[in-house]
Amino acid sequence: MNVLVINCGSSSLKYQLINMNDESVLAKGLVERIGIEGSVLKHEREGIDKVKFEQPLKDHKDAINLVLKTLVDPTCGAVKSLEEIDAIGHRVVHGGEKFAGSVKITDEVVNAMKDCIDLAPLHNPPNIIGIEACKELLPNVPMVGVFDTAFHQTMPEVSYIYPLPYELYKELGIRRYGFHGTSHKYVTERVAAITGKDLQGTKIITCHLGNGASLSAIKDGISIDTSMGMTPLEGLVMGTRCGDIDPAIVTFLMNKKNLSVEDIDNLMNKKSGVLGISGVSSDFRDIEGAAEEGNHRAQLALDKFAYTVKKYIGSYAAAMGGVDTLVFTAGLGENSGSSREQICEGLEFLGIEIDKEKNNTRGKEVEISKEGSKVRVFVIPTNEEVMIARDTVTLTK
Ligand code: AMP
Repeated sequence: MNVLVINCGSSSLKYQLINMNDESVLAKGLVERIGIEGSVLKHEREGIDKVKFEQPLKDHKDAINLVLKTLVDPTCGAVKSLEEIDAIGHRVVHGGEKFAGSVKITDEVVNAMKDCIDLAPLHNPPNIIGIEACKELLPNVPMVGVFDTAFHQTMPEVSYIYPLPYELYKELGIRRYGFHGTSHKYVTERVAAITGKDLQGTKIITCHLGNGASLSAIKDGISIDTSMGMTPLEGLVMGTRCGDIDPAIVTFLMNKKNLSVEDIDNLMNKKSGVLGISGVSSDFRDIEGAAEEGNHRAQLALDKFAYTVKKYIGSYAAAMGGVDTLVFTAGLGENSGSSREQICEGLEFLGIEIDKEKNNTRGKEVEISKEGSKVRVFVIPTNEEVMIARDTVTLTK
């Protein structure tokens, strides 16, 4: 069974065609600049050089059309005809309280997704446009929606409620939802597979550290807390997002700098985080480079990031009454040994001890804790696409 996994952003679209008999990736790619000048599709398949198609793509339907054409292309394609695509799995960012798991997509489900647009105005609309375009182009292929928020729907009330008037939760859905759920769930399942242990009785902290970053406290295999909130802005210091700040700064800045709602939103989402502190870049590779050359603000950004992750680890250990496993995943978590070392430094009191040599690793699934460390520490490359494809198989079979 072949599953096409689609992840639509506002002007981009990532795809993977996966053969679910052995979970091998038949082809994958990325369309960028949809609806703007310079649209391009970059496509990869084993056995060929990466290919690039540049042509105007006015919307996501055009983009999906080009993806489908590329997948059946006689030279760079992966299948002979579109009939070999058995199902499509879509990543959907926000499922609100309506979706605690993946669902087979029907008109009713799409309408319920539309009800969640208010909660994720930047993310959900392109996800829905992608679903509607696929429905038009491949009307007989079943589709499944997999939500970033679903895994965290197990959070207890005490984790998800904000200390605001309770009526606002009931009226507007203002509560914590959490994101990166598919990734936190994937690495949790890998922990069970690697250790050969039942998740019942375990206390795992998962650190998804990429451009967007979040931690999750996972007790008995279910999420009981996570650092992102109603939106993906809460929590850790990120590439360009500020994470937790004093909420009074928002009104203070709006007053002092005469900022509109859009301006302040843009400042907190696009100009803050390690980019804002360092003034160098949102990419940790650039910041690490600048810090090595003695740039104080770059070093401060790295220190603030690691300090915040460390504090969250401590708070989640407290929330779960301990921790037995710590996992690093996503771009930075998988690749930056120096960040992992900085985060774990000083956490020996919790039983977290990493081996410097084992920690000198990049992008591989490996245990990096010292022999005898009370807490087992792993680097586990995430794979959200395979999780989406697995749920798609389960729900369409
Ligand atoms: P993601 O959002 O998971 O794709 O992660 C992307 C981020 O991971 C980049 O912006 C970098 O900050 C970080 N990253 C990727 N590779 C490395 C590396 N080798 N060293 C340090 N940071 C990295």
